[in-house]
Amino acid sequence: MRIFKFGGASVKDADGVKNIASVIRQYGQGDLLVVVSAMGKTTNALEEVVHHCFHQTGKAQEALSRVFEYHNSILRELFPSDDLYGVNDIKNLYLELECFVDSPNILDDYDYLYDQVIGYGELMSTKIVSNYLLSQQFGNQWLDARNFIITDSRYRDARVDWQATERLISKRLLPIAKKNLIITQGFIGRGNTGETTTLGREGSDYSAAIFGSLMGAESITIWKDVAGVMSADPRKFDDAVLLNELRYSDAIELAYYGASVIHPKTIQPLQQRGIPLFVKSFINPSAAGTCVSSAGKTLESACKIHKSNQLLVEISTQDFTFIAEDHLKEIFTAMAEYKVRVNLMQNSAIQFRCVIDNKENRHEPLERYLESLGLKVEITGDLELLSVYHPQNSLGAVGEVLPEGWKNTQRILLQQNSGTATHFLLG
Ligand code: ADP
Ligand code: ASP
Ligand code: MG
Repeated sequence: MRIFKFGGASVKDADGVKNIASVIRQYGQGDLLVVVSAMGKTTNALEEVVHHCFHQTGKAQEALSRVFEYHNSILRELFPSDDLYGVNDIKNLYLELECFVDSPNILDDYDYLYDQVIGYGELMSTKIVSNYLLSQQFGNQWLDARNFIITDSRYRDARVDWQATERLISKRLLPIAKKNLIITQGFIGRGNTGETTTLGREGSDYSAAIFGSLMGAESITIWKDVAGVMSADPRKFDDAVLLNELRYSDAIELAYYGASVIHPKTIQPLQQRGIPLFVKSFINPSAAGTCVSSAGKTLESACKIHKSNQLLVEISTQDFTFIAEDHLKEIFTAMAEYKVRVNLMQNSAIQFRCVIDNKENRHEPLERYLESLGLKVEITGDLELLSVYHPQNSLGAVGEVLPEGWKNTQRILLQQNSGTATHFLLG
């Protein structure tokens, strides 16, 4: 069994869907499960629908129409004769979504609402891919990933129930997958009361890893719009080079620091079962790409990871008492509660400083809560975080003049778009 995963960029238009068919035809014969995410920027467009719906702006249906029009333009190219090959299936998904958005009693829980709407991006894309393959006489079975990926009900960041998921995958999915090419969704799962959940933005790589690890796959291949994992994002750094081989341990660090080519949760399930991860170009599928495994080579290049839209949060005591373990316990508990992800942290006698993603204003309730505990909170925005992983590879003697911690990773906080360093923090 092998797993292929195609992300938004690979299915952003009709040619992308045709390309998936050609990649599967060429490289995917035999036991194969294909995970597909939403087309192009559909998830962002559905986020707008959720926004209008939740805030009752009266513009939700208009925002939905934009999503449908985009999908319709792809459908028209793939299926010139209208009601062929399950186009009705897709129209039925549109209707489901319209009815859901019209429903009057879904407005009190933003995260719940979000997951019920957002998952349609994946449902629509997989229906289109599956039906296109059928139209090309390419037999396949469309399956709803929510039947297998069982999670808790932590909407927008659901945690997998590995036992329940493993049971369903081995009992229900494997027998079908042995006989058919499977097309299914990334990113979505089913919570404990039957509703849709999502695994966090960009979570389809993780879905591929969940299926792969629980199906005992021989490999996972995630098909991207780049040559593989590179020493930096090639869109941002001209000197990025392809890393042909990577160890799991380096891949998980790079993904954690923000190398968005692999979702950070993807590596652990694969490492646990020793399943290699290939990151390959869907534009040039015969090229080798990157292989992530336990046998990967030691990194030879320094890797640069750049994250924009960062906030520096400085938390201090009002009365010059130490920021001690009990404060830290409160701070971390609150961060978990408000789903604030810490990218970097540092503490001194009376201050705890951390860098977080500026995501959906999640820091605001956190700030209010910490202030209610009597702590002083200062937030600086418009920052970028640059991490250099394994800088000793390119900077030679740096470890001799800088503190020990800087040997493996340097982290620099910059004023957004200015190139000016504002803070140097150890990470
Ligand atoms: P998907 O289509 O699966 O959603 P993503 O857009 O999430 O794919 O990931 C591919 C993108 O990741 C590339 O277009 C590239 O800009 C970015 N990227 C960031 N860091 C790296 C890196 N170190 N190597 C390669 N690509 C990177
Ligand atoms: N469609 C989802 C997102 O854009 C999941 C993914 O693409 O991995 O976040
Ligand atoms: Mg993506």
